[in-house]
Amino acid sequence: MTEELFSTDAYARTCEATVTDAGADGVVLDRTVFYARSGGQPGDTGWLTWGSGTARVTDTFKKDGTLRHAIEGDPPPLGTRVTAEIDWDRRHTYMRTHTALHALSGIVWRHYGAKVTGGSMDLGVARMDFELPSMSAEFGRAVEEKLNEALGQDRPVYVSFVPRAEALADPDLIRTKVNLIPEHVDPIRVIDIEGVDKQADGGTHVRSTAEVGRIRVVKTESKGKDFKRMRIELVDR
Ligand SMILES: [Zn+2]
Repeated sequence: MTEELFSTDAYARTCEATVTDAGADGVVLDRTVFYARSGGQPGDTGWLTWGSGTARVTDTFKKDGTLRHAIEGDPPPLGTRVTAEIDWDRRHTYMRTHTALHALSGIVWRHYGAKVTGGSMDLGVARMDFELPSMSAEFGRAVEEKLNEALGQDRPVYVSFVPRAEALADPDLIRTKVNLIPEHVDPIRVIDIEGVDKQADGGTHVRSTAEVGRIRVVKTESKGKDFKRMRIELVDR
């Protein structure tokens, strides 16, 4: 199993590691700072370097539970000691985008009682779907104001590992359907944006909401009954 350093330290940009597999499916390391795409957050890109060799990592993903680095060119041989380094500017923008999305879901829940039904993110832009009967441009402006106010309060973002039984009994986590997480997952990783949003999540986040900066609601649209979509972007991206 690969030790996933990003899970406890989202700010780790580089690490030393050993190649434990290198085939057509990509390079496997004993430890890594590369986040594997899931939960709407894309996989990291970056570089592996060793001796006189270097390879560009074009994506990171999991296949059959194993974390794999997709690379361009020849992989380092099995057993090689490599330096793994992520494209930090790109990753940090994803961290800001991801934390902004969680804060958005918390704001819309707390002020309007609406549940999230879906979402996705790209570099500095994201969309989120809500179970709402209507969504106007005016609603978008009101949410934007509340969200920016919360982000500007510089609230800490905590990562913790909560025993499954405790997570299943937490009202904040029940709202986000924590019971749907496969039974073997224990403890459950939880992201808590203090006073704004709390949910089970495997992604990488910034350590405080001020680091997200300001966001802008760029579009509100109806995709059907109780299916309304909001698009946001980071003002500074
Ligand atoms: Zn998330």
